[in-house]
Amino acid sequence: MDTTKLSKFYKKSHEEKIDALFEAGVISDEDKQTLLSNNLDLNLETGSNMIENHLGNYSLPLGVAMNFVIDGTNKVIPMAIEEPSVIAAASFAAKIISTGSGFSTDVPDRQAIGQVTLKHVDNMAEAREIILNAKQAILDRANEAHPSIVKRGGGARDLIVRILEDTDQPDFHAFLSIHLHIDTKEAMGANIINTMMEGIAPYIEELTGGTALLRILSNYATESLATSQCVIPAHALKTGKYTGEEVRDRIIEATQVATIDPYRAVTHNKGIMNGVDAVVAATGNDWRAVEASVHAYASRSGQYRSLTTWEKNEQGDLVGSLTLPLPIGTVGGAISIHPAAQLSHTILGHPNVNELAGILASVGLAQNLAAVRALVTYGIQKGHMGLHARSLAISAGAKGEQVQQVADLLKQAPHMNLATAKEILKDFFK
Ligand code: NDP
Repeated sequence: MDTTKLSKFYKKSHEEKIDALFEAGVISDEDKQTLLSNNLDLNLETGSNMIENHLGNYSLPLGVAMNFVIDGTNKVIPMAIEEPSVIAAASFAAKIISTGSGFSTDVPDRQAIGQVTLKHVDNMAEAREIILNAKQAILDRANEAHPSIVKRGGGARDLIVRILEDTDQPDFHAFLSIHLHIDTKEAMGANIINTMMEGIAPYIEELTGGTALLRILSNYATESLATSQCVIPAHALKTGKYTGEEVRDRIIEATQVATIDPYRAVTHNKGIMNGVDAVVAATGNDWRAVEASVHAYASRSGQYRSLTTWEKNEQGDLVGSLTLPLPIGTVGGAISIHPAAQLSHTILGHPNVNELAGILASVGLAQNLAAVRALVTYGIQKGHMGLHARSLAISAGAKGEQVQQVADLLKQAPHMNLATAKEILKDFFK
């Protein structure tokens, strides 16, 4: 990628931006023409094959975040999101992080989890032993239920058994939960896993005498973790009257607050997910699955906490880290069908699923840095409302060049809201 073609990207016109991506080698000529003709939507036929009672398509803006250097490689990050300032914030934070050594990621071997949950098991301990002794036969049956993933080098790898007991719920009888750890290769794997779970349930019933109540994947993707880390020299954090050291220490303190206070942690983590969800959506992945998994992971200690850690090293640098469970894929679901998802994978340079997981964790880390840095210095509204002004101008009815003109006047007005935007439009342009 020739990053020199991408400098001052945000200042370019729409056409210039597309051209710069082409010149930098990020997209092909065909992609360029698709973008220029704004032809990224699903067609009606595809949409009606994807969901039921289809009426039309619902578009989100697709943009790109810049300045990401992940594991030594420059990346342009596609993001599908309606919220102003998220892309600007990610790009800004990535620039700060690139003054250090950029992002370094760690994605251990990923395995998805499927569960068969049994009721009416007479002797839990005995059933557990029977299942553990039949482990290989159960794994074999799971693989026979979905042979194509085995041909691709994946398949069921491990089995664990959990006895679910709860003395607090009235009329509760214990359940037996059998987990399979499954390598679904490049797929998120929901359909593979569900097929496997339905495939092994009768055999498990036969072995234990129990009845299968549930047979489905677990969205708590604790075996699909991705970590991104960064080391930022303190001087790179300086802003206005705040020294870099002050900003660093305030970011550390803000993260301490988000580690002990769930009211703050939820907002802190929402900021992380602003970036993560936007890339998950852009790449055609299931953001409900990722959201469910990530927030459960934030509660793994028994209390909902910050997903990021920010600390100071011996040199006085700010060291950040984010680990996320990421049930994602690079094939399957909407990924191979949606033209915008295909373009997003192209923009990212067609990463494999492990690389995509590392990219998502890096975007989350950048997003968190941007939000917390703004919060502990001049506040979040300064940057946010500047961009929000454009949305208000459009909502008020501004068109073309009027949008920026109304937004500029709105930024100087005592109350930045829709009513003021409408007044400005009426006074100056009618
Ligand atoms: P798909 O079933 O759409 O795609 C997976 C299939 O892609 C594989 O079975 C495999 O089929 C094929 N494939 C091609 N290349 C590869 C490769 N390199 N590695 C692995 N597979 C490959 O999708 P998923 O099973 O991943 O399921 C994801 C979808 O399921 C999402 O859309 C999600 O919204 C949905 N879903 C989510 C649930 C949840 O999260 N709780 C529940 C149910 C559905 P083959 O080998 O036969 O060619």
